[in-house]
Amino acid sequence: MRRCAKCSDKGTIYLPEHRLSLCKTHYLEWFESRVEKAIKSFRMFSKEDNILVAVSGGKDSLGLWHALWKLGYKADGLYINLGIGEYSELSEKKAKAFADKIGKKLHVVYLKENIMDIPTLKELQSRPACSVCGTLKRYYMNLTAKKLGYSVIATGHNLDDECAVLMGNVLSWNIDYLVRQYPVLEEGNGFVRKVKPLCLVSEKQSAMYAFLSGIDFVEDECPYAVGASSISYKLIMAKIEEESPGTKLRFYLEFIRKVRPMFALKQNVKLNPCQVCGEPTTGDVCSVCRLKMRLEASKAGMKQNF
Ligand SMILES: [Zn+2]
Ligand SMILES: [Zn+2]
Repeated sequence: MRRCAKCSDKGTIYLPEHRLSLCKTHYLEWFESRVEKAIKSFRMFSKEDNILVAVSGGKDSLGLWHALWKLGYKADGLYINLGIGEYSELSEKKAKAFADKIGKKLHVVYLKENIMDIPTLKELQSRPACSVCGTLKRYYMNLTAKKLGYSVIATGHNLDDECAVLMGNVLSWNIDYLVRQYPVLEEGNGFVRKVKPLCLVSEKQSAMYAFLSGIDFVEDECPYAVGASSISYKLIMAKIEEESPGTKLRFYLEFIRKVRPMFALKQNVKLNPCQVCGEPTTGDVCSVCRLKMRLEASKAGMKQNF
């Protein structure tokens, strides 16, 4: 039986990539210190910042909010209701219950009121639901944070998420996306700063943290995410990690340290305010406003091919 490296109680959790065995109490402490380490080493934010945590009701985002709260940061939540039937209803309920439990504010934005719910959007156009959904979430997160005066948006992307995205971008050598893959996207040009404080912890570790902290989270993935390519990349990475613990961390951190700086010189995207809504865009009208115009046009009976 392994013993906790900190207190020599019976260790219940073994972390092969760190060759570390910890009891429940010291695991929670370790996890929070990993989050703090990411915040400090990537200079994400300070105790003075007003942080808006994008919560989905799942383990990662609620766990992140919990860790920030425990670490003494000023963090409220933002829930974007996508209008995906029971899945959205249940996740909103759990996000609200969690906010009440820690005594923090949860802001809610309904896609249906601002543009259209995801199921209707999916019917109307041929692009995969996840890509439109991602665009809309980023747009309303940024808009809401600015409107409510938050200086930082924190999302619950974990190491597995980052590795899956990195793998996808490497497989197609998508340099423009590789340049942008960093746990901090600085503010400016109409964008609020965006950070990923869970980038040093794996999905498994994050699930364990949420579970041991007694957080009531939604276990189901979004019903539309099934079959997304990122899921198969995660499975492949998990297989490699199992045979060689520490691979994911190395893959991600060595990219950040050695490879990304070589591309960073190339970063030169020009942004203008959207002529309709004022949010930043590379063109004249942003993608969300263009989507709205297309939806209006199709409502007006002009059948268009999306
Ligand atoms: Zn211990
Ligand atoms: Zn716009």
